[in-house]
Amino acid sequence: MVDVITVGDEISAKRDKVIKSLKEMNKRVKQNRPNFMEDPYHIIISDEGKVLQVTAFGTGCRFDGNGSCLMCDYGKREKMPTPAETYEWIVRAFGVYDAQEKRRALDKGRKFPPVVVLDCNGSILDEHDFPRENLIATLEALKKIDPQGTEIVFETHYHTLNREVLELIDKYLPNNPINFELGFETANEEVRDLCLLKHIPNKVFVEKTKLVNEFKRSSAEAEPMSVSANVLVGIPFLTSQEQLKDAVDSIKFCIDNGVRNCVVFPMNDKDCTLLHYCYEKGLAKQPPIYLLTEVLKKLPDKYLNKSSLAWTGNRVWTYSDSSDRLAKFIKDTKKPDGADALTKDFSDFNTVVAWENPTRKREIVNNIHEKLKNNEYYIGYQEELASSSTESRTLIDRVENVNDVMKKAVYAPNFIKLDPNIQVPVQ
Ligand code: SF4
Repeated sequence: MVDVITVGDEISAKRDKVIKSLKEMNKRVKQNRPNFMEDPYHIIISDEGKVLQVTAFGTGCRFDGNGSCLMCDYGKREKMPTPAETYEWIVRAFGVYDAQEKRRALDKGRKFPPVVVLDCNGSILDEHDFPRENLIATLEALKKIDPQGTEIVFETHYHTLNREVLELIDKYLPNNPINFELGFETANEEVRDLCLLKHIPNKVFVEKTKLVNEFKRSSAEAEPMSVSANVLVGIPFLTSQEQLKDAVDSIKFCIDNGVRNCVVFPMNDKDCTLLHYCYEKGLAKQPPIYLLTEVLKKLPDKYLNKSSLAWTGNRVWTYSDSSDRLAKFIKDTKKPDGADALTKDFSDFNTVVAWENPTRKREIVNNIHEKLKNNEYYIGYQEELASSSTESRTLIDRVENVNDVMKKAVYAPNFIKLDPNIQVPVQ
């Protein structure tokens, strides 16, 4: 008997084939990532001493091995940090923070950072990416340090959140505000699957957010746990207008579904990702800094006041004093006119505490717009926005074209020097 194939089935088969093929290529180009540095940890102090970030380097993300995600270059280290190293580095990070604060502000220096971000080259709460013994060593070190009032942020994948892990964290840190920062990227599942090669069912994401929000802390004084969502701005293969709409819709979706705040990430160009080669081939364009302004302008106050920017359009500007490979992201470091002032305005935007000053974020956005309105780059971008509504191809057709072009490039002889043991997929 012949199966009846409907149009829907054909689209879904085409979609699955394209995603599989792009993931194979992504896996292939990621082979060239350099190994992470010898140190099992990296410490960054940012936002004028407000944030201490302690990043662990282990054997990498669970999803990396199957070719997820188009834009991610999180590499690998040959071995995991040990629990003893973990404990030592958490203590060391607080020591570095304390020393810097004393140097920076003498008697005004804070003893503890308002926010500590714990992350790794994967998900800090995924046992595959960061063994549980390491998480327990982290919690033990924090318990010993007892950074009172400090919010502890765990950067992790939505699937890692469950009652057991929330109870474990609450047991060690009963009084600290606890936040989970999740890479949500976009509220459009099709865009996330096709343009980013990342799969998150929105329904499960919302359920996980609810689980966190409703978790009963063991201490009556402790704040409820919360979720932050990272939202990408400038998703490849979308038109400028679609990028703008996607970011605004995604922030609204998150906040409307219980997420405490959104962190807006401009899409970056990182070496050894398929996205990097798509940029090189002209199949996608890095978003200009002005797209951030447009996103902020379009957000109603309720959402604007719960949004901040991870960095302001170009990571090299933000981390210009950082010499390690974490800073090595963007090739084009040319700043358009007015970019320095804009970066400063964006950084002011981030420092506003909305519940203290509910109109300030809007004022800053209006000021940015006022300053930009005669800037030729901004005007050019506005024109691009206006004309970009004309893309008539469906998303799957656009991404299929990306797949066809990239296959010719990535499988060409000498495209990149590869590990000879890597299996070339049948095309
Ligand atoms: S973006 Fe997150 S889930 Fe995707 S490969 Fe990178 S670390 Fe893994």
